[in-house]
Amino acid sequence: MNKPTPERIFIAGHRGMVGAALVRALHARGDCELLLRNRDELDLCNAAAVDAFFAESGIDTVYLAAARVGGIHANQAYPAEFIHQNLEIANAVIHAAWKHRVQRLLFLGSSCIYPRAAPQPMREECLLSGALEPTNEPYAIAKIAGIKLCESYNRQFGTDFRCLMPTNLYGPGDNFHREDSHVLPALIRRFHDALQTDLPEVRIWGSGTPLREFLYVDDLAAACLHLMAQPRERLAPLITPQRSHLNVGSGEEVGIATLAMMVAEALGYRGHISFDRSHADGTPRKLLDSSRLRSLGWAPAVPLADGLCHTVRYYLDACAAARQELANAKTTIGTTTATGTRATAIPSLRH
Ligand code: NDP
Repeated sequence: MNKPTPERIFIAGHRGMVGAALVRALHARGDCELLLRNRDELDLCNAAAVDAFFAESGIDTVYLAAARVGGIHANQAYPAEFIHQNLEIANAVIHAAWKHRVQRLLFLGSSCIYPRAAPQPMREECLLSGALEPTNEPYAIAKIAGIKLCESYNRQFGTDFRCLMPTNLYGPGDNFHREDSHVLPALIRRFHDALQTDLPEVRIWGSGTPLREFLYVDDLAAACLHLMAQPRERLAPLITPQRSHLNVGSGEEVGIATLAMMVAEALGYRGHISFDRSHADGTPRKLLDSSRLRSLGWAPAVPLADGLCHTVRYYLDACAAARQELANAKTTIGTTTATGTRATAIPSLRH
């Protein structure tokens, strides 16, 4: 008897934090064939290249985890890149998925694309109900366009393109860039740097009062697989053709000041923590109502304290590996070149 052909799954952005977690989750499931392409092999902003890739690959399922992503600083410094690249990626991948008869696609929005003053906890229907947070408006507009692309292809062509709206994510593979990262990896880096340099005080950007929800990235990957495994009929009562996204969050809310203390403790930093109010806070409170997704049987498994420890361990290991790589490079090619390669020697920290 012929063996059934395994599902062919394209994970766009598989080297990113979410993409890598999806790879781990799908490998663990072990019943599919993963198609993975680096940015240098396939630029997802290049619609012609994306089309050619889909035409030759026989893809059944797409997880679209590629995007230009960053924290407040990056969003404000590079607004053109955030709107342009995210629109291009969504346009190219979603259109090719329709054209080449992909059976199911998952697009990821973000809780930060809900209106700034949305009632908390935020329900799915509050999308497009008010003004956006100005610091990330270009990113939000592109992400909303991605959701609307999915819905429009579903409405016109009967495709099965689904959308999840994740809260703030964190975990192994996060971006620890000094300025471009999100709050949690940025805190890990700042406290670690302070420890390394015996800094007596760490100043945190903003007032420390905003409340945030965090979801460990492996919990998100489990949620993605869970949603994609649902038959259409099970989703039907939860969504409408023009409100098809489902929230995904942990439900665990924490103040930035408390988070800073948790990070300091996880790293063993004993100095003083202060707050620099000259930096923008962003949205004052951001908590998702994830009851619709939870009614389908998904629940988060990793509490913040545990996820934080895993992430700190990942960061410390990545730093140690980077130091080792740097030492090896110095021994083999001399100090001048080794210093020049520092940025590429620490890819997981994305200097
Ligand atoms: P990362 O920055 O970790 O990963 C993004 C990935 O996309 C990278 O692998 C990057 O490739 C790839 N990529 C970007 N542009 C291109 C391109 N033009 N061609 C090919 N590949 C490209 O992001 P996350 O994993 O954190 O985010 C994944 C998704 O989850 C995004 O849609 C984001 O909006 C969403 N999300 C993330 C949240 C978070 O807190 N991080 C919160 C809510 C939603 P390369 O490795 O070459 O740079």
